[in-house]
Amino acid sequence: MLHVDILKANSLKATPQRLCILDVLKNHGHATLEDIERFTKVQFPTLSLSTIYRNIDEMLKKEILTEIKLVNKKEYYEIKKENHTHMVCENCGKIEDFIIDTDEIIKKYQTSTCSKIHKITISFNSTCKECL
Ligand SMILES: [Zn+2]
Ligand SMILES: [Zn+2]
Repeated sequence: MLHVDILKANSLKATPQRLCILDVLKNHGHATLEDIERFTKVQFPTLSLSTIYRNIDEMLKKEILTEIKLVNKKEYYEIKKENHTHMVCENCGKIEDFIIDTDEIIKKYQTSTCSKIHKITISFNSTCKECL
């Protein structure tokens, strides 16, 4: 789906700024607010950090983007996709996505704790292929 259509489907105007933020996230996978500012500056030199943040926040509320929290790291944003976990290289900081089946884990702990688990967030600290 094109970014323009994703925004429209969520009744958000497809402004050049929003499209630019989505492009940055598409190209970089995961990015912090500062990363996004650095890359959007190329196209929009006057775009302020607060405007960028406001746009991100709107897209978070519509669940176009998701926020990921990694231990000892800043908040990262990414375009929402299938539920996945993150592998973070301790050496170069690269974040890679991979999918593990968490349904069984959720079922097991939901039963044993008699609670409702909404979301499971897993991240692995690793050394990536390039750094090895
Ligand atoms: Zn690495
Ligand atoms: Zn991810």
